Amino acid sequence: MNNIKSDSLNIDSKTLYDFVFIGLGASNSLILLSLIKKDLLANKKIAIIESDSKKENDKTYCFWSFSEAPIVKDLSQIITHSYSRIEVKSISQGIEKQPYYFIKSIDLYEYTLNKSIEASIPIYRVSAQTILQVNENYAINTSEGVINSKFVFDSRTPIYSQLVSKEIHLHQSFYGFHIKSEKDVFRKDTFEMMNFDVDQSNYTQFIYTLPFASNESLVELTRFGIDKIDSAYAAIILNNEIKTKYGNYEIMADETGCIPMTNYWHPKNKLSGVLNTGANANLIKPSSGYGFKNMYEFAEIVSEKIKRKDLKNFNQIALKRKKRFRFYDSLLLTILKLWPYEGKRVFTRLFQKQKIHTIFTFLDEKTSIISEIKIFASLPIKPFLKALFLYIKK
Ligand SMILES: Cc1cc2nc3c(=O)[nH]c(=O)nc-3n(C[C@H](O)[C@H](O)[C@H](O)COP(=O)(O)OP(=O)(O)OC[C@H]3O[C@@H](n4cnc5c(N)ncnc54)[C@H](O)[C@@H]3O)c2cc1C
Repeated sequence: MNNIKSDSLNIDSKTLYDFVFIGLGASNSLILLSLIKKDLLANKKIAIIESDSKKENDKTYCFWSFSEAPIVKDLSQIITHSYSRIEVKSISQGIEKQPYYFIKSIDLYEYTLNKSIEASIPIYRVSAQTILQVNENYAINTSEGVINSKFVFDSRTPIYSQLVSKEIHLHQSFYGFHIKSEKDVFRKDTFEMMNFDVDQSNYTQFIYTLPFASNESLVELTRFGIDKIDSAYAAIILNNEIKTKYGNYEIMADETGCIPMTNYWHPKNKLSGVLNTGANANLIKPSSGYGFKNMYEFAEIVSEKIKRKDLKNFNQIALKRKKRFRFYDSLLLTILKLWPYEGKRVFTRLFQKQKIHTIFTFLDEKTSIISEIKIFASLPIKPFLKALFLYIKK
């Protein structure tokens, strides 16, 4: 990837933009790329407001997908790794039909930035504060002045501690090492999604392993829980695990992160020309933390609406989701919150009893009710009954 020069533009308050993007993270990048791909920005005035320099690889976006799916084709230039096998309980299974893809966030940011520069889209490196409706348009107050637009994509990061009161809010926190092992111990086509054979400490904890070469891998300890994982604690567990399983190794980098797991449902933006995107549009699945593929699908819906000039209820654009999956997510979050030690049993049983493609389809919310009944029938019943009782009571 090229090194992109930093832009520090003076705010242009006189221009009335057609579309302004607040934030250029995952969701808005995918919307912008979809609009550029469909050539929908010609003769349109566009601007981006992004408070961060976006020069660091702050996360990785992984997702499973059919290899012929548009997401894979569209992002092929920035998919740097893919896995055709998954390891569950030391047994490797083929997932050639639906491989697991890996994108570095920095590659997505730079790719989108390059496309934006090519399309002469200005990027204001300032923080957006409030959005006010002025007649039919919107005035976005930033730390450096006002930017005016007909429509706004708002991906500002939600602050859950201020939003969540009755709902459940857990953290999917992780700490990991990017390691080089002395011996060739990894298979670069095989990743391990959830290995629960690790200390649980009254949380739900697992190891996630993403190899890049026969002697190089990311090994992370992930926790689902009320409290975020402590890096010093995780380092001890990881060191022990890596030494025992793979022998001597050297740490090339460490990585830490946290994904919200909440059943809080973000309302639509009250301003009819402002569309909430990304986490703000409920696109991160509460029980898994995966959201990238939803954001891609959402971006396609948005760009199709714009193509049809169907912008009347701009703030109402949504990804269609079946409501019963919100209920399933709530049950699982209740279990993870109140009886975290049950998480290991539930997930282990899920991976033991179901084919990996069924699990992927279930997490994609694309299973049939019959299939879901079979999935739940294969899981430990008691924690789900207890969670159901509390759900009904609430
Ligand atoms: C560490 C981590 C790892 C993840 N891994 C995966 C994964 O492997 N697979 C998957 O499917 N999902 C993953 N997710 C979940 C989800 O895909 C990401 O959180 C995704 O980045 C959410 O996209 P977003 O656009 O809502 O937010 P972001 O990508 O965070 O984008 C929001 C942007 O808005 C900017 N911004 C915020 N406030 C302002 C402001 N006031 N003014 C201007 N700009 C502002 C921010 O700087 C940021 O660039 C992960 C999440 C995290 C946190």
